[in-house]
Amino acid sequence: MAKHAFQAESKRLLEMMINSIYSQREVFLRELISNASDAIDKIYYKALTDDSLSFDPENYYIKISADKDTRTLKVVDTGIGMTKDEMENNLGIIAKSGSLAFKNENEIKDGHDIIGQFGVGFYAAFMVADVVTVKSKALNSDEAFKWESEGTDGYTIEPCDKQDVGTEVTLKIKTNTEDERFDDFLEEHRLQEIIKKYSDFIRYPIKMDVTVKEPKEDNEEEYDEYVEEQTVNSMVPIWRKNKSELTDEDYENFYKEKRYGFDKPLKHIHLNVDGTVRYNAILYIPENVPFDYYTKEYEKGLELYSNGVLIMEKCSDLLPDFFGFVKGMVDSEDLSLNISREMLQHDRQLKVIAKNIQKKIKSQLKSMLKNEREDYEKFYDSFGKQLKFGVYNDFGANKDVLKDLLLFYSSTEKKLVTLDEYVSRMPEDQKYIYYAAGESYDKIEKLPQTEVVADKGYEILYFTDEVDEFAIKILMSYDDKEFRSVSSGDLGIEEDDEKASEEDKEENKDLFEHMKSVLAGQVKDVKASNRLKTHPVCLSADGEISIEMEKVINSMPDNQQIQADKVLEINTNHEVFQSLRDAFENDKEKLDLYTKILFNQALLIEGLPVSDPVAFTSDMCKVMVS
Ligand code: ADP
Ligand code: MG
Repeated sequence: MAKHAFQAESKRLLEMMINSIYSQREVFLRELISNASDAIDKIYYKALTDDSLSFDPENYYIKISADKDTRTLKVVDTGIGMTKDEMENNLGIIAKSGSLAFKNENEIKDGHDIIGQFGVGFYAAFMVADVVTVKSKALNSDEAFKWESEGTDGYTIEPCDKQDVGTEVTLKIKTNTEDERFDDFLEEHRLQEIIKKYSDFIRYPIKMDVTVKEPKEDNEEEYDEYVEEQTVNSMVPIWRKNKSELTDEDYENFYKEKRYGFDKPLKHIHLNVDGTVRYNAILYIPENVPFDYYTKEYEKGLELYSNGVLIMEKCSDLLPDFFGFVKGMVDSEDLSLNISREMLQHDRQLKVIAKNIQKKIKSQLKSMLKNEREDYEKFYDSFGKQLKFGVYNDFGANKDVLKDLLLFYSSTEKKLVTLDEYVSRMPEDQKYIYYAAGESYDKIEKLPQTEVVADKGYEILYFTDEVDEFAIKILMSYDDKEFRSVSSGDLGIEEDDEKASEEDKEENKDLFEHMKSVLAGQVKDVKASNRLKTHPVCLSADGEISIEMEKVINSMPDNQQIQADKVLEINTNHEVFQSLRDAFENDKEKLDLYTKILFNQALLIEGLPVSDPVAFTSDMCKVMVS
């Protein structure tokens, strides 16, 4: 019999299938089941629209059977079947389906990925089979036909015997190779597992003959074995069920079953959307941070189903990076099963869904923040850092989405507060939102720089995450109130004795100039402080880079060293200042000594390293013996 050649493009896809890697091969079954389900859909639709046909659900099912002796796996359906022409046109050509939408050779080379992620259709059978045989009888047809192919070199079609309308796909499973076990695809358990994983929610029963073992009635040690036809899939997906029918436990079970995480989810969101794009989704906000969450290895994404069939395990386009911690799935009837990643990215429906989902997640988080503060704080403890990165990333493109979800520790409330809470408490005369950055709440509390602001009774936000200050620099303001570091030059606080300190500055100019020359290369300036009350010295930064930012940037690997422009601030009301003045008048050597000590003290207070600890301690000793 004459062999028909495959169309060129189909041939390329076939080659890809044959050479695909093991981990992806299992999706062949998903593809065959989904075709079977589509074929039943079609006959169902006909029955709905054609009075001469009746549709009894009992008669429609998919049956999977494996035979180890002949190494064959059969997928039988009672769907609409195919005519000879249909076989010719549908099984010999793939170009009409979305799967061959790759544009260039590179994408073909990357094809492995496409196989794993997308519907690749009927040809997926060649990933596990040497020979594929399709027998089919179309509805309203008296003859049946057999299509058969061994892969790239073509296929044959001939008439055959088949009583019932429907299709029977038989795979002659490949033999094991050194590193791949094809035998697995003939094992009952493995097949059940694959069906559960990909096709659990197909709405027709997927039946299999399953071996059941039961202890004998008279002897518990021995087993009776018998074979029973069972339906493997659960048919009704939880996401299509009504929210009111489901309990928290149902959602938790689904989370576990799907292995979205090993923790208990903090919250779930169940969406049944019937708008311009119809979809169902179940989303989870986990409680714990996955161990690899803040690393490059972590892959965000939601499972994507097209009408009950899993087409992608991690669709990253459905989630913005800043909500990358969300787990779950989306099912839409409006998405085609055979869709390549390339096409998916531009899919209008998918974009609508993604936008919707982002909104829902945000409103869920906001309502948690408002009504279940404790839960929100748990969430924030895990993923607050992610939200702050979200504010910072992409030049602040998403800052407005996220700013109301941020929490920072408050000096006056002694707990985490929102920016809105902070601003609503601001006294009328307070111009800025103040913050102080440091290693821990304790350490920040003791920072001399906080003194004046705290003394005024103003609230200060404590920044302990590395990203905090960077995020706030991008945010710039909240509710028209600018952020201001307690170490910044202008605190916007009117001091009663400001004039006096202006005069001080003039008077002390020479002293400060001298001190500055002692610390040449280490500080940009030495000046009288207007923020210190009880401490003699502190460091502040002049310019865009704060001292905390300097620490963060310099702790990153391979980063060029960056220096904040440091200013040594002196409390001119402190007793120590008198000693400085005396030394300036009488003993310049002593002044140099004091200057170096004070600078090192300021460094220590900031948590910055003292460049020469030995010199520092011997300086201290010199003071003690003088
Ligand atoms: P797709 O399902 O996206 O159309 P496939 O490669 O999976 O692409 O299938 C190609 C075509 O072959 C189907 O559209 C359908 O017309 C036909 N087909 C495949 N399997 C069956 C089946 N079991 N019953 C009826 N038609 C089938
Ligand atoms: Mg298909």
